[in-house]
Amino acid sequence: MGKTGYDDTPMLPDSPWQVHDYRRPLPPVVTPGTESSPTQPGQAPSDAIFLFDGKDLSGWTGRDGEARWQVQDGYMQVVPGTGDISSRERFGDCQLHLEFACPAEVKGDSQGRGNSGVFLMGLYEIQVLDGYDNPTYADGITAAIYGEYPPLVNACRRPGEWQTYDIIWTAPRFSGVELVSPAFLTLLHNGVVVHQHQVLNGPTGHRDVYAYKAHAPTGSLKLQDHGDLVRYRNIWYRPLPAPEGCGCGCGCGCDCD
Ligand code: MG
Repeated sequence: MGKTGYDDTPMLPDSPWQVHDYRRPLPPVVTPGTESSPTQPGQAPSDAIFLFDGKDLSGWTGRDGEARWQVQDGYMQVVPGTGDISSRERFGDCQLHLEFACPAEVKGDSQGRGNSGVFLMGLYEIQVLDGYDNPTYADGITAAIYGEYPPLVNACRRPGEWQTYDIIWTAPRFSGVELVSPAFLTLLHNGVVVHQHQVLNGPTGHRDVYAYKAHAPTGSLKLQDHGDLVRYRNIWYRPLPAPEGCGCGCGCGCDCD
């Protein structure tokens, strides 16, 4: 096959390539997965890295070393009092998929109902809660960036039903102790966009505001033991390269480098 592009076109801005450059590498081929349904887990794309494939917790650590949550029927469930668990795998910018279910039997209210949490890099919590017909403070509802930003809408399924988070995460950048660019989060809850490239103020926390503190460019995924019998399954990620363009990683096309 001959050239499938051009070499007599203008240079693209901030790029080593020309428009339709025949030398520009084609993207790698990935076989897409399938969507999950409230009853069936989805199938991951071919290049996904599994953090939990439904079999065991060998990829996780707990408070005293071993992760002590319960694994059965392809999911893991919080064992209250055993503590949060963290992935052995550490990663930065990524696409992350996970599925969770809050207890079918409704107990408690507000923050005391089906509470858990997904902490990116161990520091930045996306709230997991049974938020179906369960009033609580807005920045603590399901899919909130906890203590910072409520989701755009409440897309919760009923208690006991499996739900999905599809996360696109841009890690914060540091130079020494200085913050170069903050973290950004895009989140789909059950296929509905609930955060769109939302900037984070800093690490999340309870009843306080926390400033960014320099940390490594990769970190573990942490899942929270908040004392409720929340389940997780089908947890995988795909590492993402820094966005092309300005190169600062913020993805906004700004000129900050
Ligand atoms: Mg929580």
